[in-house]
Amino acid sequence: MRLWDFHNHQSGKDCTLYNLAEPTLPISSPCSLGIHPWDLDIHWEEKLSQIQTASKSSDQVFAIGEAGFDRIKGPDISLQKGAFYAQARWARALGIPLILHCVKGHDLLLEYLKSEKNPPAIIWHGWNQKPDLAKQLLSFPVYFSFGKHLHQENSNAAKWLAACPMDRIFFETDDSGLEIDSIYQAASLILRLPVEKLAEQAVFNWNTISKRKI
Ligand SMILES: [Zn+2]
Repeated sequence: MRLWDFHNHQSGKDCTLYNLAEPTLPISSPCSLGIHPWDLDIHWEEKLSQIQTASKSSDQVFAIGEAGFDRIKGPDISLQKGAFYAQARWARALGIPLILHCVKGHDLLLEYLKSEKNPPAIIWHGWNQKPDLAKQLLSFPVYFSFGKHLHQENSNAAKWLAACPMDRIFFETDDSGLEIDSIYQAASLILRLPVEKLAEQAVFNWNTISKRKI
């Protein structure tokens, strides 16, 4: 059974969207490529054009990201907004999702979503926010990727997974060092559904929102 890991920082694993830090060619396995808010500086447009070249020439770039907002560790908000909006536009142009990193930036995401008629599919990775915040996002093409927080009973992640529409869910290990099986297992206990069903659902969800199919 293929258990896809939709966001991970470890290369060389099967069925994994590896988050590539630099757009070095050739790209021969599935990855996401983008500018993390922590890595932003005034030269971000140069880096974006390298990302555009790489993601146009390789269909192994399955998503743009992680990109987004970070009020704790990120630079000036106007810089973050500029880089995020441009990356979102590029994801939309390619017809692939954007993997979102968002720390204390829920309002910035909402501001973007309300201002943009044609946003890409946005996968909020490492979701562990209150279910009420998630509900505000359901009228937009926003998806939720669940990871290590599912192992904590009563975490916000576990609560939202139990209520989240099934067509909005993904799973990931990120930099936790956990095996993806353990995340699907935890989700299976929360939802009382077999791991196989969740694996199928996540792949179906991906193939519904992305031109680059897995
Ligand atoms: Zn990450």
